Amino acid sequence: MPENNDKKKLQDLYNEYNIPLPEEKPVRPRPQSAPAKPANTAPKSDIPRKPDGTSYTMQELQQIQAYRAAMRQRRNGQAQNTARPSARPEHPEQQRAVRQGQAMPSQSAQNRPQEPRRQQQANGHYYGQKQDAAVPKYRRRKLSKPNPAALIFTLLIVVISAFSIGQIIQNNRTPGNDIDHSSPGMIQNNDDALANLPGSETAGDTEETAEGIDDDAMVLWNTVQVSNDTLDEGDLILVNYEYAYADADTISPTVLYGVKADTYQVSSTNISLLPVALEALNNLANDFHAETGSREIIIVSGYRDVASQKSIYDSRVASQGEEMAKLYVATPGYSEHHTGLAIDMSFYTTAGASVAVEDHEFGYWIHENCDNYGFVLRYPDDKVDITQIGYESWHYRYVGLPHAAIMSEKNLCLEEYIAYLREYTPSTKLIWIQKDGVMAEVSPTAFPKEGTLVYFVPAAEGETTDIRLPRGNIFEKYEISGNNVDGFIVTVRIG
Ligand SMILES: [Zn+2]
Repeated sequence: MPENNDKKKLQDLYNEYNIPLPEEKPVRPRPQSAPAKPANTAPKSDIPRKPDGTSYTMQELQQIQAYRAAMRQRRNGQAQNTARPSARPEHPEQQRAVRQGQAMPSQSAQNRPQEPRRQQQANGHYYGQKQDAAVPKYRRRKLSKPNPAALIFTLLIVVISAFSIGQIIQNNRTPGNDIDHSSPGMIQNNDDALANLPGSETAGDTEETAEGIDDDAMVLWNTVQVSNDTLDEGDLILVNYEYAYADADTISPTVLYGVKADTYQVSSTNISLLPVALEALNNLANDFHAETGSREIIIVSGYRDVASQKSIYDSRVASQGEEMAKLYVATPGYSEHHTGLAIDMSFYTTAGASVAVEDHEFGYWIHENCDNYGFVLRYPDDKVDITQIGYESWHYRYVGLPHAAIMSEKNLCLEEYIAYLREYTPSTKLIWIQKDGVMAEVSPTAFPKEGTLVYFVPAAEGETTDIRLPRGNIFEKYEISGNNVDGFIVTVRIG
């Protein structure tokens, strides 16, 4: 029959060009610019990338990974391990801190006599735990759709991480790099080799503090020294009506326009943020877009120098009077926008309307998930008496992880969190975020083997402060942030 012959010719033609017949594969609408995916792949599998194609930093990848892992864990009801190589080539990452003029464990190790390695290190007891200890997982409050590609993503992260470490080293001196943004006061040790090489001495087995050493608990401490000039540097600085930010006109944040993810908008081409906040924002917006399909987030303000703040403040005083101005606009020098860690966020709809976060159909997603990316709603309506700023649904502050998660869990604003942390010191007790994201307190003499530790070290009299850190062989990475008031907050990831 002619009809059948025609159909066969058509089939041959399709076969020749390796094209399926149209009726066999109906066109499926998909979002513009989204890559083609197998039909059985969940729609949230795309890996967030920077617009310029470069890799994320370790810190950022860990944030993504922690988020993904927590989401996965919630769905599966059990943790999935993140495979890591048990040993990696050692690299000179610790030299970075030396270049930045900071004390590292290896620097202070010079006069320490060699000592026999402790038994539990020699037999590798603790190192067997490290392979699944890449990142802490934070408890989430909201369930979401299953994402079968998350495991693939996690494996990719492991590969990307290896490249990323090298890139961090290479980029170390590049202006605008995420490591450099942080300040001399922010010490980050990305040297996974320290945690993964049981025989490594590079972590600097410096003087151990005598108290509390216990063969089973493995309480071993190093000391690093930081300059008290760095008290106003780091993700956790408190800047409010009481505490000014002295570096407002000297930091160099990154302009978002041109480098930001394409999943959100900016209201002006000169809005800028510190790179660590920019990258967290990119991830937030990418995941927001993946979940909701919306690209309507708009950032309307980021970093401001003192002159800009003064201009905003003066014009508000002129229009609404000093009392109202003070309720919503910080006095110049005392604004969080000076830090490059704060954003004002809104929605600008495809229909051209400006909509406040709390009024947008997906605004709840921001409020419920921002802490997964290290952001907190800085001026909640139930904290006005503490922050002395009226409720602002639009103002978010980057504080990093796990701090945003803790603040959310405990319902603490930054003022409260800074005060809360003062209870936790190496001589009292430590906050311990376990692998499953559950918070606990732990004694400095009963050391956990994995998870994240958070504690406070008061600034010492004089020019420097000695900061105690878990001994090198068991930590993967640590960060030290000033609080801009009276001390330093230490975050240690334990492998
Ligand atoms: Zn603001």
